[in-house]
Amino acid sequence: MNLVPTIITDINVLKIPCETVELNEGIKIGEQLLEYVKSDKNNWAGLAANQLGINKRVCAMLDIYLVNPEIIDKKGTMYYTEQCLSFPKKDVLVKRYTDITITADNFESELYFSAESNMFKCACVQHEIDHLNGITMFERVNTKIKRNSPCLCGSNKKYKKCCGGSNNVHDTKYKDEI
Ligand SMILES: [Zn+2]
Ligand SMILES: [Zn+2]
Repeated sequence: MNLVPTIITDINVLKIPCETVELNEGIKIGEQLLEYVKSDKNNWAGLAANQLGINKRVCAMLDIYLVNPEIIDKKGTMYYTEQCLSFPKKDVLVKRYTDITITADNFESELYFSAESNMFKCACVQHEIDHLNGITMFERVNTKIKRNSPCLCGSNKKYKKCCGGSNNVHDTKYKDEI
């Protein structure tokens, strides 16, 4: 499989949270995602299933994939400049946790990521899990953005009407403490 898949770039599609997936199906999707990520042709850091139009909770990053990942513990704050396959050539400074513990259905034990041991991987796993929750890096942005200025995501909407919106559906559920 050498094909480079088409990546979803429509932020309105990417804002739809993914559904929990049955383990066997999740493993199939995860192996495919990981193959894309590891392909020399792509040289990608991570990929979430919904970036391929598959609305299931599976993502891959560097050398692993995660089926139905959930963050169960988190602490610390860091700032990290991220990029996203869905928004080429946009670098965004985002706020992330320095330490997170997650569960995933394809791993028996919990997985722990820390900025101290691997800052890139720690940010990456948070970026990908955000995707599964319908959250893009533009909602985690740390730069001060005027509410009436164009949104960084390129939607041509005002920031306040887009990724910075107070009526964002994810506000209460996932944007909480960060
Ligand atoms: Zn992304
Ligand atoms: Zn936006």
